[in-house]
Amino acid sequence: MKSTLPKKLPAKCLFFIFLGDNLLIHQDGNQFTLPCEIPETLKDKVTYHRFLNSNTDVYPSMVVDLNQNTTLLDATFISLRSLYPYVADKQLTQAGRALQILHWNRDHQYCSRCSQKATESSTELAKICNNCGLVSYPRISPAVIMSIIDGDRILLARNKHFSVGKYSPLAGFVEPGETMEQAVQREILEEVNLKVDNISYFGSQPWPFPHSMMVGFTTRFNGGLLQIDKDEIVDAQWFTRDRLPPILPPKSSISRRLVDHFLSGQDVTR
Ligand SMILES: [Zn+2]
Repeated sequence: MKSTLPKKLPAKCLFFIFLGDNLLIHQDGNQFTLPCEIPETLKDKVTYHRFLNSNTDVYPSMVVDLNQNTTLLDATFISLRSLYPYVADKQLTQAGRALQILHWNRDHQYCSRCSQKATESSTELAKICNNCGLVSYPRISPAVIMSIIDGDRILLARNKHFSVGKYSPLAGFVEPGETMEQAVQREILEEVNLKVDNISYFGSQPWPFPHSMMVGFTTRFNGGLLQIDKDEIVDAQWFTRDRLPPILPPKSSISRRLVDHFLSGQDVTR
């Protein structure tokens, strides 16, 4: 489907232009900026676009998808994960939302009930099946992420997909019918065989890999013998403020904020 670009845009508009899962950026050393328009050479590669304007955005934005077969030699595309240390939180949130919308568009071209072509609603972020009427919205998968505090120690684990030396708080998806707090307790029991109490809400972060919503909690260790589930993680250890793992999660992630919260000594579960 060919996408037609709107003729008029606000004076300041950010363009999130993706090739696959990689974002077009202008790079100058460690400085990354987003384009303010679609480069002339890419205009005929656009397969989808949508204008985004939210009250929480500093600037309105345009999300743009490019033909997957596009080969470009004179443009820099970079994964969102690798941008996390360098770009302001608000822009990352906007870029993440843009990528989630693109994933949704790519994966919901057809109705999941009757398999007819779906069309995009002009009034809300939704796809509508004109055959059976099914309305589908972008998928958001809630996941919990939690620190486990025992006095001056925090439990951090190494997922089997992590690079060597990297540890982070435990995390896992919420299952149907579960409260967030039940998911916290279940994940901790499944992954490291520990019990916790004092489960307190910490904060949340949209995590667009590909469509999670990370909901953070602090918890207090309340018994059990540390035993790891080797299907999920390869190691879990108690760390103190003066003995931390070599690599922590990236700044800007809620995972890191949970660790920094512990390091600051503010943890409410102590
Ligand atoms: Zn249908």
